[in-house]
Parts: sequence; C-alpha cells; structure tokens
Amino acid sequence: MLSAVPPPVTVRVPAKINLHLAVGPLRGDGFHDLVTVFHAVSLFDEVSVAHGDEPGIEVFGEGVTEVPVDETNLAWRAVQLLADQAGRDPDVRLVLRKGIPVAGGMAGGSADAAATLVGLSALWKLDLTRDELAPLAAELGSDVTFALYGGTALGTGRGERIVPVLSRHPQHWVVALHRGGLSTPKVFGELDRLRAGSEPTERPVEPVLEAIAGGDPRQLALSLGNDLQAAAVSMVPELRRTLRAGVDAGALAGIVSGSGPTCAFLCSGADAAMDVATELAGLGVCRTVRVAHGPVPGARIIDNQEAT
Ligand code: ATP
Repeated sequence: MLSAVPPPVTVRVPAKINLHLAVGPLRGDGFHDLVTVFHAVSLFDEVSVAHGDEPGIEVFGEGVTEVPVDETNLAWRAVQLLADQAGRDPDVRLVLRKGIPVAGGMAGGSADAAATLVGLSALWKLDLTRDELAPLAAELGSDVTFALYGGTALGTGRGERIVPVLSRHPQHWVVALHRGGLSTPKVFGELDRLRAGSEPTERPVEPVLEAIAGGDPRQLALSLGNDLQAAAVSMVPELRRTLRAGVDAGALAGIVSGSGPTCAFLCSGADAAMDVATELAGLGVCRTVRVAHGPVPGARIIDNQEAT
C-alpha cells in the first residue's frame, strides 16, 4: 500500500531590530554577555518545508547569491538538529523566500532556522510547542529563540534567554538597507578593539522597557541604544551620514540594527514613516528603504495544505 506524502508547510517569520543592545566584556570562551530588547518588525522571510527524495535548499529573493545552499545554511542546520532529535532522516526540501536583508543585522538566517523548526514539527507531526522548540533554537544560534516567539522581548545570556515585554502600542519604522553586509563576529571584534580592554560603559535597560510599556514613540526614541553601533560605524563610516539623514528627514531617532549595517529609524506614526522613507530614498544614502511596523508575531504557519 502507498503511504500518502504530507503536503508542504509554509511558515512566515519576521526580522528583528534591537531596541537596546548592551554588550558585556569579552568572556573567556570568546562570547559576550548581552542584555538586549528584541522587537520583531514586518519584514518577512517565508520558509516552505516539504518531503523530498532529493533533500536540499532553494533560495529566492533579494541577496540570494550570498545565501549558502549547502549544510552551512542555518535553516539546514535546523533540519539536521530536529531530524537527529526525532530519529528521522533529513529527507526534506526547503524553499526560502528572502524578504529580510542578508547579513543586515536583522537576523534573517536565524529567522529561517526558527521557521524551519516550526514547519518541520508540523510536517513530521511532532507537534512540538514553541517552548519545546526553544532549547533546539538556542543550540542553533543566539537570535533563533526570539524568532520563534516574536513580539518584543528582553534577551539575556547570548540573547537566547527570552522574557516577553509588554508592548501594546505599534511602533512605525523606516529601515534603510546598506549596499554591503557586515560580519557579526567582525563587528564584535571591532567593539573589543575600540574598548581596548577598558570596562564597558553602563547602559541600563529600564528606560527602554518603560518607554515600550508607555507606548509613546518620543519617549522610546530617547531610550534607544546599541553598543555595537560605534563598531559598525567605525567599519562603515557612511552609516554616520545615513543615520543623520534619517533624523533630518523627520525620524524621531535612528539606530544601527544589531551588528548592522542596516539602520532603523523610529517615526511618530505610519504617515510620518512614509514621508521619511520617501525622502531617504531620494538622497542616495542607502541601497533601498522599507517601511515596517512592530511588534509582530514570531514564526507562524501560513499554509499547511492539509489543514485547509
Ligand atoms: P547574524 O544573525 O549573524 O547577526 P545577520 O542578521 O547580520 O547575521 P543573516 O542574514 O542572518 O545576517 O546572514 C549572515 C550570514 O549567514 C550570511 O552572510 C550568510 O552567508 C549566512 N547564512 C546562513 N544561512 C542563511 C540564511 N538562511 N539566510 C541568510 N543568510 C544565511
């Protein structure tokens, strides 16, 4: 008797911005302790997982030439990890549709890994909850756990310990994509070089948590901060001009997203964000601009043909 092949499952997963990123001193194991506030915004990748006799990955969308299609792709590492855990063969095909800029500091690879865990759990009928997938996510990378949950969350450890943060009010953003990418380990290395062994300056997280709870974008604008920004700007000095241009165009504040080089501009509302985006796009200080809002939910199944 032939067994029916389950239909593909498609998962949508958002990019993140760090509203706050405090980087502790370099640890003996080469990592840094982080205190960060993640905020999921409406730039999405879509990941489809399907049974396939020829396992592999296909990638579509912006920046595809920089995305590996071998076992180094973080989404494929997620397949292998869940297959090991479930005692199955990794006999799946992945299709990644990239809407999150590659190597832009918005955790696109981590998002794809989180989406793959959620999609495969459904495809293989493992029915694992997000809390059950979280330890696997943490094993894959510091930002993968947050992409499972989305919303706004406080992250500690290497960023993988997540606590949701109350934020009822939507925030409106303009995201300016830079021409090249930046390697996250190199940005951390540059920060260590700039600090030259001196203790990091304190960057308390409480003001940003209060501003998120209050919902006033002007208060939030005053409390945004990223320790990696100085390192990213040191490596790509044009970012200084981009950050200034966004504020001159009417944004309340601009910040480098994570390790950069993407810059995120907080605006007072949806209309203001459209105006800022239009003006920035005309200035030629970045490759392209997008408007986005946050918070949005984490990795979610949008198409499970069996369920429809
Ligand atoms: P990080 O998560 O390290 O901060 P990032 O958010 O800046 O990274 P990503 O888009 O995740 O950027 O890509 C970082 C690098 O990871 C890319 O240059 C690419 O070679 C590799 N990579 C592996 N898997 C993926 C994936 N699924 N999507 C995008 N890049 C991937």
